[in-house]
Amino acid sequence: MNYRGRFAPSPTGHLHFGSLVAAVGSWLCARHAGGAWLLRVEDIDPPREMPGSAESILAALPAFGLVADAPALFQSQRQAAYDAAFAQLKAADLVFPCWCSRNDLAGGLHLDGRCLAPPLDGREPAWRLRVPDIDIAFTDALQGPQTQNLRLAAGDFVIRRVEGYYAYQLGCVVDDAFQGITQVVRGNDLLDSTPRQIFLQRCLGLPTPAYLHLPLALDGDGRKLSKSERAHPVDPTDPLPALRRALDFLDLPASTTARDPAGLLAHALVHFAPERLPHCGERAAA
Ligand code: GLU
Repeated sequence: MNYRGRFAPSPTGHLHFGSLVAAVGSWLCARHAGGAWLLRVEDIDPPREMPGSAESILAALPAFGLVADAPALFQSQRQAAYDAAFAQLKAADLVFPCWCSRNDLAGGLHLDGRCLAPPLDGREPAWRLRVPDIDIAFTDALQGPQTQNLRLAAGDFVIRRVEGYYAYQLGCVVDDAFQGITQVVRGNDLLDSTPRQIFLQRCLGLPTPAYLHLPLALDGDGRKLSKSERAHPVDPTDPLPALRRALDFLDLPASTTARDPAGLLAHALVHFAPERLPHCGERAAA
């Protein structure tokens, strides 16, 4: 099967160092395999989004030498596909409406395939997936064998929120299948989402891609470098320093003679092998 990888940023801010690492890592894996590298803008959570950041991220990537093989897929245009997946889950009785508040659940209540609160007139429910007592196992190409008891770790997780937005897990699974992704390469903060995604793939009859979770970049205080925490954006008008740091973070040589991002990436690719990526779950960004 031809390798198809992807980078799937949420437009919650400008491209920052942590997302540059995910973009570079997924690009290197795809090019090393002689495969395609695709983009997906995960814009299905309007309250968290920053206006203009999708355009800013998409414009920044080519400045870092990261050119996709197809136009980006926008999740905001995929409502019909998510509606169809949701209808499929509903028809199979795999979801249930839930009116429990966060407070109800914080009190230690556990759902068991049904809502504990009475339906509230006039208030839309969230929709949760019925999660059995099941261990989901997979082998991450970098982090090794993983097992998660889905019931204990995630419970009956929300796939459609009260406001009507579909959850990240559902959009991600539907679109990884739609884009024909064969390997998901992303930050290690999403390692514990992967069992939920594998379970959803099984519920929907979708294939499970391979997974590789890159070490997560931490700031000087040991916190995740995240766009929504207003991490410093990387500067696409001066791409070489940040690209060198991203390659260094991935233990790849950053050529001192390359004059442009494409040259730096081409040099790194020659030395690249996925199994030689750093195996740790997280590390400080220099
Ligand atoms: N949109 C997610 C983020 O920016 C990444 C999702 C994924 O790679 O599966 O954190």
